[in-house]
Amino acid sequence: MDHAGRYRSVFAYCALLLLFVAGVVAAAAPVSSDPAQLLRQAESIQPSNHTEFNELMRRLDELTMRLSPQQELHRRYLAARQIAFAGNYAAALPALTAIADQTVDPVLAFRASASVIDLLVAESLYEEAFARLNPLMDQLPKIKENDVRMQGLGVAAQLYNEAGQYDASIRYADQIIKESTNAESACRGWFYKSDALFESGSAQLPIDQLHSGTEACGKAGNTLFSLSFQYLLASFDMRQGRHESAVRLLQASYPEVLQAGFPPQVSEFEATLAKAYWKDGDLASASKFASSALTTNANRPYSESTANAYQVLYEVDKKMGDSSSALANLEKYVVAEEGYLSRLSAKTLAYQIVKQKVLAKKLQIDGLDKKNKILTLQGELDRQAAETSRLYIVLLLLVLATIAVWTYRIKRSQLRFMKLARRDGLTGIFNRQHFVNEAELQLHYCRKSSRDACLVLIDLDHFKAVNDTHGHAVGDRVLQRAVTACKAHLRSTDIFGRLGGEEFGILLPECTLAQVLVLAEQIRVKIATASADEDASDIPISASFGISSVVHSGYELRQLLIHADEALYRAKRKGRNRVSIINHPECDNSTTRDDLVDGNPHLLQGTSTFRSAPSEQANE
Ligand code: GH3
Ligand code: MG
Ligand code: MG
Repeated sequence: MDHAGRYRSVFAYCALLLLFVAGVVAAAAPVSSDPAQLLRQAESIQPSNHTEFNELMRRLDELTMRLSPQQELHRRYLAARQIAFAGNYAAALPALTAIADQTVDPVLAFRASASVIDLLVAESLYEEAFARLNPLMDQLPKIKENDVRMQGLGVAAQLYNEAGQYDASIRYADQIIKESTNAESACRGWFYKSDALFESGSAQLPIDQLHSGTEACGKAGNTLFSLSFQYLLASFDMRQGRHESAVRLLQASYPEVLQAGFPPQVSEFEATLAKAYWKDGDLASASKFASSALTTNANRPYSESTANAYQVLYEVDKKMGDSSSALANLEKYVVAEEGYLSRLSAKTLAYQIVKQKVLAKKLQIDGLDKKNKILTLQGELDRQAAETSRLYIVLLLLVLATIAVWTYRIKRSQLRFMKLARRDGLTGIFNRQHFVNEAELQLHYCRKSSRDACLVLIDLDHFKAVNDTHGHAVGDRVLQRAVTACKAHLRSTDIFGRLGGEEFGILLPECTLAQVLVLAEQIRVKIATASADEDASDIPISASFGISSVVHSGYELRQLLIHADEALYRAKRKGRNRVSIINHPECDNSTTRDDLVDGNPHLLQGTSTFRSAPSEQANE
């Protein structure tokens, strides 16, 4: 404990001053019979105004039956404060605690709780006091009543000062000064702030703070606080070695201090006066005030003022050469000092313990928070993992779908290309190569099953002339028209292809020569009667036909083609627009355009049933 600390003492009783928060409005109002008004009046009474306060409480006692449950709790709160001020902390403490816990009125709860903290401090139960301070400050933002806020802020400023947390104390004191709506509150704010400054080791008060403080406390007319402020100023003087000035200040207030009669304050004044006189060399006055302090402090053996008083007595005895008395006083000084110091360290320790507990709780909460966060993150991760899996599945499906679509399209293209590769671009029927392949395959089957098959070659007559006369485009349409005419008479099993410019081939399985002859004749007629083009309907179109059969030529396509070609050649030679059969010159159907109707009756006999109606188009 440093020397500066030796002078601190005011808070020892300021706690109790807080029990009375709004003394300024106390007025000698006529005693009402309205419970609510009585409660308000009692609330605003000055602590020094015992008589009036007691009278109000007596009236409230009489009206107990008329009080609402909340009003009754309020009355009990005032009564508990009364008991506390009378010094019976042990009785007041549980009463106030019960009220703080029971009331549904947040303001009354706040007040009672603040008062409980005051009493816990007075009872040296610092740990509990600090433990209650945090929840109290948590409630502060909800409290709108200025006087109640002042009480709470005062408790905080005071308790932090006690625990040596001067910065925190000054912060709350500043808030009190800022929010104060009257001189009383301002006086307290300045006092707490000045005291914290003193305790933190400051040499003197800033001059404007000194003015504001003394002015507010003077105006407030709150004797105890005004006197405490004077005491604080004297303490600053002592610290600076201005003992005379301290004596002057303390002596000037001393009569008023005695009149106020608050023992802790009286003893502080006396002990500090004793010290100041001793420092000043006035041993008689020092001894006198030290003895007075001890008398006043009879039941406070471990207070700072008791220790100070014994110290002065010891120093005086030493100076006077009374060594035995000096030794006795030294012993008492040491005991008092130790007791006082242990109380001081108890406060600091309590603060630290509560701080650590709060910290531990916070850490625990933080820990839980973190755990929760980890769990949340874990959940989030799981969700994301599931989402990612889903995403992968969707992606996979998409890829598969794309592959399927592409495969389908490629397959379709392949099929189209294959079809294109097998077909003649102009007429859509088989091209030469495919015709050869298919015809050979069919002939192979026919050979295996010993079935008939015939080959027909068709060549348009004088086609060059069509091109030359009407142009290539018309020639193309003539080719298409000829193909359509052929198709009208073919079966689905017949193989039809374009073998060259205006030359076509048809392989007809399971057909006899006679049947094919009839069919060829029908096609010939059809071609000859189909108009080539609307613009050139008068173009004479005809075709010559050459037929070969497996019966005479065998199943080799090559041979069949040669024979059919020979027959075709003969048809051409004989004048075109006719059907000719290989090795059967007598069977040639030499129909011309002019004698179409007659046909070739001897060949058609018995074969009239052959293709009476157009078949499905071959090779479709
Ligand atoms: P013939 O009666 O002796 O068969 O006389 P032709 O004029 O039909 O015979 P030729 O072989 O001399 O003429 C065939 C003509 O067919 C020659 C060619 O210009 C024409 N040609 C070949 N392919 C096509 C084609 O794809 N389109 C058109 N418009 N004409 C074609
Ligand atoms: Mg030709
Ligand atoms: Mg020709």
